[in-house]
Amino acid sequence: MSQRLTADLIVTGAAQLVTMAKSERVPRIGPELRELSIVRDGSFAVANGRIIAVGSRDHVFAAVSASAQTRKLDVAGGVIIPGFVDCHTHTVFAEYRLDEYEWRVAGTPYAEIAARGGGIAKSVEHLRATPQSTLLERTRQRVYSAIRHGTTTIEIKSGYGLSLEHELKQLRVVRQLRDELPIQVVATFLGAHAIPPEARSDREGYVQALIHEMIPAVAAEGLAEFNDVFCEVGAFSREETERILRSGQRAGLKARIHADELTDTGGAELAATVGAVSADHLKKTNDQGIDRMAKAGVFGVLLPGTSFGLPSLDFAPALKMVEAGVRLALASDFNPGSSTSESMPMMTSIACSHMRLSPAEALSMATYNPAFVLGRENEVGSIEIGKRADFLVLDGQDYREVMNHFGVNPVARVFVSGREWDRTERHRE
Ligand SMILES: [Zn+2]
Repeated sequence: MSQRLTADLIVTGAAQLVTMAKSERVPRIGPELRELSIVRDGSFAVANGRIIAVGSRDHVFAAVSASAQTRKLDVAGGVIIPGFVDCHTHTVFAEYRLDEYEWRVAGTPYAEIAARGGGIAKSVEHLRATPQSTLLERTRQRVYSAIRHGTTTIEIKSGYGLSLEHELKQLRVVRQLRDELPIQVVATFLGAHAIPPEARSDREGYVQALIHEMIPAVAAEGLAEFNDVFCEVGAFSREETERILRSGQRAGLKARIHADELTDTGGAELAATVGAVSADHLKKTNDQGIDRMAKAGVFGVLLPGTSFGLPSLDFAPALKMVEAGVRLALASDFNPGSSTSESMPMMTSIACSHMRLSPAEALSMATYNPAFVLGRENEVGSIEIGKRADFLVLDGQDYREVMNHFGVNPVARVFVSGREWDRTERHRE
């Protein structure tokens, strides 16, 4: 018989322990999205930051041993879920575009906002004028807020620098946070977010700079795992997107695409063709694109906060994609202009109200599935033996309160690798 491990932490008393455990380590698709593996009166044990036993209280106490140092946490009828995995954000930015918010809600078309110098170009202007130290401090506070709302793994993109110097500045901020924070921080290079203002008369020159200068520099410094392109009318064409993604793949960067957000550009199909990990947004994707994604195993990352924040009532056809067996995840798209919230609970709520996902589907897509998008499926996304002990204690007695009770923070306590995150943490000099 194997020796019993000594637990550092034993958690008991969860009215609902939502483990998200699955017999095989593969993404949930279709009806599986509604299977959460909930243990009533659940318990689990942690050693060295990892889960070592999960199940009923009796099972856990029989499976592990306790010492005088073992901490006991009785959540007294509360709910525990895995930490959220936010797999698509633009958290490194200089400031919110508040004037534009007023214009947008008043109905000003995006073309007119852009003509006033707004949109991504405004965020590029702000970011270039902001020193790295200031960006770092602002981004750190945003990530702290995301953690307080339950995010324990976060992907962060560049894309407001649009020059070698300023893209590297953004990615170095992400690297600094990855090194100093206990949560998982994953970096994506999005130099192909827009054509920078100074290259408008020479777009091919900028594509060449991405391929021959920026992607090699990012890869050489190990600053990103993914390479993302905004494939859209007015941003990058399908043909340009493919060249940029393939050059990233040759440099070891996995491909992702901002696809079919405002128009159907065939981005979903292109994701399948190039073997991208994900196609994100997908508001305008056609049936063939959905079919190709399902067959190729490309993740669809749905970003309902963007539709909510723009504002528009135009959402990705989530139920159709569930039906088609597409691998699906939800993310915040947290950014200074369209989805100005770092709250994953809010995203699950919008996904239920406006995409008509069930609360269980939304939770699967916000925890377990996005871990696969980021290649962290053996680390995070569920409360299973061997994974990091990243979990949330919720207010209330039912996980559906996360979606139903919107606009407030349902997360009472956050644990990262078995250690409680200090909710009062604001600043470390
Ligand atoms: Zn985005």
